[in-house]
Order: sequence, then C-alpha cells, then structure tokens
Amino acid sequence: MAAKALRCRLGMHKWVLRSSTENGAFHECARCGKMGTSDWGPPVGGTLEDHS
Ligand SMILES: [Zn+2]
Repeated sequence: MAAKALRCRLGMHKWVLRSSTENGAFHECARCGKMGTSDWGPPVGGTLEDHS
C-alpha cells in the first residue's frame, strides 16, 4: 500500500470531482484516493479542484 501524502494525513485532501456509471458523481482525493461524500457537496477539509 502506498503511503499517504503528508497533507492527506493532516486531513487536507485534494478533492476532485469524479464520476462513474455505478456511483454517479462523487469526490475523490487525487493524492490518496479517499472517496468523499457526494450528498452535500465536497467533503470538509483540503482543497477542491475542478478537473472537468
Ligand atoms: Zn487524500
């Protein structure tokens, strides 16, 4: 398993908007791959980048 980036360990994830046919749109950390919630927008903490 890959080590988490320092900022991810501090809770500062780099959220990007992803989408899949199964799950629809959701936020995922570009660095560590952590999946965020999609019900109420981007997760708290870190930065949100729009790669659409
Ligand atoms: Zn992360």
